[in-house]
Amino acid sequence: MDIALARTWVQAIAAAMDKHKDLLTQLDSAIGDADHGANMHRGFSAVAAELPRFEAKTAGGILARTGALLISVVGGASGPLYGTAFRSLGKALDAPRADPATFAEALAEGLDGVRRLGAAAEGDKTMIDAYAPALAAFRTSAASGGDLAEASAAAADAAEQGMRATVPMQARKGRASYLGARSVGHQDPGATSTALIFRALADTAA
Ligand code: ADP
Ligand code: MG
Ligand code: MG
Repeated sequence: MDIALARTWVQAIAAAMDKHKDLLTQLDSAIGDADHGANMHRGFSAVAAELPRFEAKTAGGILARTGALLISVVGGASGPLYGTAFRSLGKALDAPRADPATFAEALAEGLDGVRRLGAAAEGDKTMIDAYAPALAAFRTSAASGGDLAEASAAAADAAEQGMRATVPMQARKGRASYLGARSVGHQDPGATSTALIFRALADTAA
């Protein structure tokens, strides 16, 4: 991971949120308040617009600025959670380039940030159900010598699997938890946007 790749990744996320805005909103209308597509789109459109003015000396600088902007422009649960994830990920990447093992540890910092802020665990039907398996797959690939493209592709596959696995879960965190058993049978919107973020990483690194 380097500065150019970080910029391309963030742009690819913005394009994915633009393309899949209606899907995210539709998922959130079933078990939330129908704003997840708008929230993610607003956040990453702002990031894409400001990206040329992000002056950073490291990939982490770009990602940390991304997180800070998400926190300031996105409301709801997902703004602070994704904002914290990108800020923590960015802060952990303070060299111009990061090898896959270093990037894996930075991704782990991002997940820890989400856990600290949202206090959700795996199985609670949140973005963590996509993020945690993606991180595990990335780490395994990087540890066995996989390059960024291989590790990111493994992470994206695992994130999508984790996203689909949220369907039978009952939500225990966030708005969807107010529905109790009625949250069962729907895919979590945040796990879906997390899968899009990892797929964008895989496409960028390919
Ligand atoms: P809001 O629920 O405030 O309208 P969004 O619709 O943008 O915010 O985001 C909802 C998503 O946020 C959920 O689908 C879930 O994945 C995620 N989420 C909600 N609460 C938490 C939490 N405590 N920890 C992790 N993720 C959470
Ligand atoms: Mg919502
Ligand atoms: Mg909302």
